Amino acid sequence: MKQLMPLLFGLIVVQALPAQETTVPATSIKSYPVLFQQTAAEYRALCYQAFNLAHLRLQEIPKRKLRKKKLAIVTDLDETILDNSYSEAQLIKQGKEYSSQAWKQWTSRSVATALPGAVAFLQAAKQKGLSIFYISNRDTSEITSTLLNLQQLQLPDADTAHMLFLLNTSSKEARRQKVMAEYEIVMLLGDNLTDFTTAFEKKPIDIRREEADRIKDEWGRKFIVLPNAIYGEWENALYDYERNLTPAQKEAKRQARLTGY
Ligand SMILES: [Mg+2]
Repeated sequence: MKQLMPLLFGLIVVQALPAQETTVPATSIKSYPVLFQQTAAEYRALCYQAFNLAHLRLQEIPKRKLRKKKLAIVTDLDETILDNSYSEAQLIKQGKEYSSQAWKQWTSRSVATALPGAVAFLQAAKQKGLSIFYISNRDTSEITSTLLNLQQLQLPDADTAHMLFLLNTSSKEARRQKVMAEYEIVMLLGDNLTDFTTAFEKKPIDIRREEADRIKDEWGRKFIVLPNAIYGEWENALYDYERNLTPAQKEAKRQARLTGY
């Protein structure tokens, strides 16, 4: 018994300690991509690369055939022109998940910064006589605060006539068509592939990848893509577009998607 005492005591101590936390809190999953966006010089270089390429394409436009319509550039806003990583960082710090309420708290501040190179590129396009249309899935209730944000960043065509926000469908096709009624769209910019065509809408991972390959010549030409590792349609596809999954269910899907060797 005397020899058993230390062992029993040890067992009691071990049991009294709180259970070891082995699962990563769901909200901290996002800390890595948020830090990439906020700290990596590589992220900034990728943004400059995209806008430098867009600028080169812009210079090629006047060399083409005479146009019948006015020319326009269509661009997404979030993670294409505006950096919203602060909202994600705040959620992580508070241990909270994304919610539309938290998102609107952020956008109501009108303080998103511009992606590196975004403002200079759009100003140059405007100077060349192109119109800029901001097709965003921000809610129409966010127009006033977003407009203020765009104006403070000195973005061209920052007025409600050039802001086509979410009405009743997340698909941007109808809004692109609306612009095309009067303008020829010579370039589109986005971080989600649904910012460019309908071909990626609600499609599974394999189809999205095949479609990206099929139109590979468009990337860096008519379609300019900005990096977004924090969120997007790629993430929705990862979870089969299922909403309301628990953190454990999400983790299971992520694990199942990993390809080893
Ligand atoms: Mg976006």
